Amino acid sequence: MSQELLRESDTDSDYDRCVSCGKITQAKRAEHINYRVGYIEGAGQLCFDCTQQVEGIAQPLPTI
Ligand SMILES: [Zn+2]
Repeated sequence: MSQELLRESDTDSDYDRCVSCGKITQAKRAEHINYRVGYIEGAGQLCFDCTQQVEGIAQPLPTI
């Protein structure tokens, strides 16, 4: 199919950018936000570094 064409820009196009610093994150665009690490609803995706700086995000949210 079109795998050959997509491979070139894989890192740029398939992964979301950090809304804070603009770096490419580890979160795939195709991945549902519920399964992402560092995604802030209403804000967007954060990279690993920025996730560490945001209090509470790195820890699993308690489910009551
Ligand atoms: Zn960042």
